[in-house]
Amino acid sequence: MAASSSSNMGEVQRLVIDKKETLTGHDVIYSFAVHRLVTKETWSFALDYNTGCIIVPTSWSFGIFYEKVPETSELSCSITLKRTDNRENSVMVFALVSFSDVNGRVARFSEAVCSGTMFAGDEKQGSISNRDKSELFNQELIVRISISIQECHVIKEL
Ligand SMILES: [Zn+2]
Repeated sequence: MAASSSSNMGEVQRLVIDKKETLTGHDVIYSFAVHRLVTKETWSFALDYNTGCIIVPTSWSFGIFYEKVPETSELSCSITLKRTDNRENSVMVFALVSFSDVNGRVARFSEAVCSGTMFAGDEKQGSISNRDKSELFNQELIVRISISIQECHVIKEL
């Protein structure tokens, strides 16, 4: 499994990948630090994830794209999750993104930006709203991306 950024890879620091297989599926958490997003016009990060499931192995492409709205300096953050394998089985997916400060205080938390049943080739999109213009984005941030793939272990009756 490889994590790569479509741009600005040098600005992602201390990448930690935590993979876990559970009774019902697969969870993976990526966390990394970024600096002063507020000074950037755009920023993006992309990663590929393979569950390695022995029953229904699925593969995924996750992208996060941040853009500053020039007029208001607000943040626009969009997320895409695409299933890139070609297995017939559907699986359930939940993806969450959170932004924390270096002390772990969560400042932006997405409720399941991409969730639901996904078949091969499906793509889901989500976004994180920026309701108040927080000072948070002016400092170092920890970005945490959680992806949970469920029901691949379940043998479905036809
Ligand atoms: Zn599985």
